[in-house]
Amino acid sequence: MKNRERFLRSLCGDRAGFDLVTIRQVHSSLIWRVGREAASAESQLTGDGLITDKPGLLLGILTADCVPVLVADLRKAAVGAFHAGWRGAVDRIVEKGVGRMRMEFGSRPEDLVAAIGPRIGPCCYPVGEEVRQRFEAQFDYAGELFREVYDSDPVRRKYPMLFLTARAPGHSDLGPATHLDLADANRRQLMAAGLRPEAIHSIGECTSCSPRRFFSYRREQALSGRMMSVIGIRPSPGSS
Ligand SMILES: [Zn+2]
Repeated sequence: MKNRERFLRSLCGDRAGFDLVTIRQVHSSLIWRVGREAASAESQLTGDGLITDKPGLLLGILTADCVPVLVADLRKAAVGAFHAGWRGAVDRIVEKGVGRMRMEFGSRPEDLVAAIGPRIGPCCYPVGEEVRQRFEAQFDYAGELFREVYDSDPVRRKYPMLFLTARAPGHSDLGPATHLDLADANRRQLMAAGLRPEAIHSIGECTSCSPRRFFSYRREQALSGRMMSVIGIRPSPGSS
């Protein structure tokens, strides 16, 4: 809570007029339209997306490898914040989020801008075959989201005999691993929803590669902290 206070103070000065709304994240594609009442701790919702057109609310998403995606409609003054791990991406949370903004606020996709925050990169994100299958069942571009990465562990390269297994060819851990580009999966969904490519900004840094800057669940396991990404509409000067 102290870190949150520090973060909000550094972002909003004395925080005048801003209330933070977070959500109990469960890797779903549930999206909530919220107002100021959602800022109280007792009313915390469960889901993975928040949208609002109310000034003075900061929509917060917590991540440590998953992808935080922030969307703003500059014309209608509405914002959205989404949490997209691989499950959320398979469930198209970001595509659905843009759809909800269209429905609730009359947003036009060409007026939207989006930010993709720090997330685990394809460099550090091996996934199982079932994950690839889930994406392939959903997206015709799924093949472009995965890459084969050969083990670059220097110990394994030097002493391959130590790591021989008795499993059938193609089933050992020595073969190429399948790595997922989760940021690109979300960028593709924003584009499929109608955003202009130049309106999508990605920090492009890998949480697992940068221990000094980012928490990473894969790297730190249960000890990992979380980062918070927020978006909100500044209250107009003079309003309460
Ligand atoms: Zn990495």
